[in-house]
Amino acid sequence: MIGGGIAGTSAAWALAEHHDVTLVETERELGVHATGRSAAILSETVGHRTVCALARASRPFLEQPPVGFADHPLTAPRGLLWIGRREDTALLDQIAAMAASGVAPTARRVDPEEALRLVPALRPAAVDGGGVWEPDARAVDVAGLLAAYARGARHRGAHQRLGAPVRACTPRGDGWTVLLDDDTLVADVVVNAAGAWGDAVATSAGITPLGLQPLRRTACLVPAPDEVASWPLVMDVGERCYFEPESGGLLLSPADEHPSDPVDARPETEDVAWALEMLAETTTLDVRTVRREWAGLRTFTPDRAPALGWDGGAPGFCWLVGQGGAGIKSAPAMAAAVAAVVGDRPWPADLPALGVAPADLDPARFVPTPR
Ligand SMILES: Cc1cc2nc3c(=O)[nH]c(=O)nc-3n(C[C@H](O)[C@H](O)[C@H](O)COP(=O)(O)OP(=O)(O)OC[C@H]3O[C@@H](n4cnc5c(N)ncnc54)[C@H](O)[C@@H]3O)c2cc1C
Repeated sequence: MIGGGIAGTSAAWALAEHHDVTLVETERELGVHATGRSAAILSETVGHRTVCALARASRPFLEQPPVGFADHPLTAPRGLLWIGRREDTALLDQIAAMAASGVAPTARRVDPEEALRLVPALRPAAVDGGGVWEPDARAVDVAGLLAAYARGARHRGAHQRLGAPVRACTPRGDGWTVLLDDDTLVADVVVNAAGAWGDAVATSAGITPLGLQPLRRTACLVPAPDEVASWPLVMDVGERCYFEPESGGLLLSPADEHPSDPVDARPETEDVAWALEMLAETTTLDVRTVRREWAGLRTFTPDRAPALGWDGGAPGFCWLVGQGGAGIKSAPAMAAAVAAVVGDRPWPADLPALGVAPADLDPARFVPTPR
């Protein structure tokens, strides 16, 4: 398993039930990159329909993990309010329609008055197109979830190699040789869960990349009055900003998407300044200082749904990439799907009813078929 973010760690846990697994991670800790920088919302209305469906399939696990998996609850009530201006109503209608297609049955369109009742500090002009209210969105304890997967994987016998970048993979008989700086591993199967580095790992194995695009997103923690503690996450449908209560203040993001190479992402001053400006335009809060700022890479496939499945040209090489802005909320369902693919077992029973078939995730959809 290459990559110790939420994708690789959750999949290692799932696979370790029936297989020998070694998780290999460049950094000296798990979850340093996208996973450690997330806003961590379990929402069934944000993103591609497929990731919303995967989030719905993940909800039972996140709300009620298996006995002994975690020693405290991994989610808490939050709610999510999409807001929009008059010119944004078509976008709000689209979200409400997707929700009603079975992925978020309790979400509903609200008028401007109801949106203002939910968050009185919103400026009426920012919400004159009304909103979509998703009452069952929940906050996820990402650190707790990642630690529980890592601990569970260890208990199931998985090995961890931290501070161990994979330099290359080469085919060897029916499997692979995986080259580290000071060691060589052999494996029947390689799972590429390297996040923003997914295409680089494939290239190092002589495999055609999928065209993954890391997009930098900025977030910051700002001081705010006590009243914000009971707010839901508020997300502007026109991608101006989003914010939610966090650590006695607000987590605020300008919802930016700057194309990036796979790197240790850093926030840019102008993106943080833009976030403060958008908060002032959207709410009556007067915020001028920032307690902490950071950035992370959300890595997308060309169609913005994840890629999970065997590479068509390289037997034993399984892709698990392109989780975009949804890798936390979709991790349990994706991990179950990886276990099915790698273990050659039936597709998870709950996914077809939600409209997710293996073909929806198959990386082959990005590789041109030879004539
Ligand atoms: C600001 C922000 C807000 C977000 N909000 C949400 C949200 O509300 N809900 C949600 O579900 N998701 C959210 N996300 C998205 C979520 O964080 C990601 O989808 C998820 O963390 C991706 O996990 P990953 O394991 O694929 O990637 P990563 O966490 O980046 O892990 C990939 C790992 O692979 C390792 N690696 C790379 N190359 C190699 C190599 N050659 N050898 C060994 N290891 C290697 C890297 O070091 C890295 O640790 C947000 C992200 C950001 C940045």
